[in-house]
Amino acid sequence: MPQDLYEILELTSHATPDEIKRAYRKLARQYHPDINPDDPEAAERFKEIASAYEILSDPNRKARYDQFGETGSSSGMTGPFGDFTDLFSSFFGGTHRTTSTRPNVERGEDLEAELALDFEQAIFGTEAEVTVRTAVACEPCEATGAAEGFKPVSCTRCDGIGQIREMRRSILGQMLTQTICPSCNGSGLEISNPCEICKGEGREIKNVTIPIEIQPGVAEGNTLRLSDRGAIGRRGGYYGDLYIHLRVAEHPVLERQGDDLVHRFHIPMTQAALGVDLEYETLDSREIISVQPGTQSGHIFRLKGKGVPHLNGRGRGDFVIEVVVDTPTDLTSEQENILRDYADKRNEEVNFKKKRTLRRR
Ligand SMILES: [Zn+2]
Ligand SMILES: [Zn+2]
Repeated sequence: MPQDLYEILELTSHATPDEIKRAYRKLARQYHPDINPDDPEAAERFKEIASAYEILSDPNRKARYDQFGETGSSSGMTGPFGDFTDLFSSFFGGTHRTTSTRPNVERGEDLEAELALDFEQAIFGTEAEVTVRTAVACEPCEATGAAEGFKPVSCTRCDGIGQIREMRRSILGQMLTQTICPSCNGSGLEISNPCEICKGEGREIKNVTIPIEIQPGVAEGNTLRLSDRGAIGRRGGYYGDLYIHLRVAEHPVLERQGDDLVHRFHIPMTQAALGVDLEYETLDSREIISVQPGTQSGHIFRLKGKGVPHLNGRGRGDFVIEVVVDTPTDLTSEQENILRDYADKRNEEVNFKKKRTLRRR
C-alpha cells in the first residue's frame, strides 16, 4: 500500500494549507535533484514530495484524498478498489512501497467490507458501522506472542536479522540470494514458550465493529479508505487499512445523475395546457412550481443547489424536475364527449366513437 501523503510531507492529516505549502518548500529544497546529483534515492523522494503536494495543494483532490485515500486527478468519483491501487503505482513509477519502515515489523492485511446505505443517507451523510473479521493484538501476551514470564529473544537461525543470505553458485556465477527466515517468518525473534491464546502469533482473530462517519454526497460504488483500521501484523506489527465499498439503495422515483437529482414529474394535460402553481417537496425543502399554460413534456424546472451536496464540502448539485404530460386513459363517457366537442371546435380529426357494448335485438 502507498505511503500516506501527509507522512511524505512529514505532516499530520490536520495540517493547514499553509503548513502543507511550507513543508513542501522545505522538503523540495532539501531533496531537489540539482542539490543531490547522482542520488537516486533523493530523486525518488523528490518525486514523492512533488506528487504529494500536487494532490494536497488542490482543495478538491485533497478532500477526495482525505475521505477516500484517492489520488485520482479528474473524473471526480472513486473507481473500484483495483483502479485506485493501479493509479497509485503509476503515480510513483510502479515502485512497490510499504509503510513498514521499522525493520522486521510485519504489516497486517488490508481488509475490505461492504456498507449498504439508504438513498438519503448517501446524500445527507450518516453515522454507520461495519463489523469485520480482523486480527487484533493478543491481550494476554501484549502482542509479543510469548507466554507470560517469557520474552522473545533474537532468532538463532538468522541472528535476529529476519532474513537469510546465501551465496549460490550458478551457471551465471556466484549469486547472493536473500530469503525471509523460515524460523521466525522475518520477525527476527524467537519465542521459546509461545502464548497459549495466540500460539505465538501475537494476534487474535475477532469480529470488530468499527464506527464510520459517512460524509454527505457519497455515491454507489465509492470506496472509503480507513487508514490503520485493517488487521494488525503479527507480534505487534503495523495495522493494515480497511476499505469500505459503498452500496447505495435506489429511490422509487428520483434518479441520481452525479450530484443532480432528477424527477420525471407527471402532470395531467389540463394542467400542462392551462397552467397551475404546484407545491413541490424536494428531499429537504418545499418549493412552488409554476407550470405555465402550454407547458410541454420534457420541460425542465431546475432548482439550483437543491441536489446532492458536493463531496468537497462546497455547494450542491441541482434538483431537476422534468415534466411528463400525461394523456388521460380513463375517460368517462361524459368527459369523452367534452373532448370530442373540443376536437370538433379545433377541427382536429379523431376516430369515431367505438361502441362499448354490442346490442343485439
Ligand atoms: Zn529468523
Ligand atoms: Zn498471545
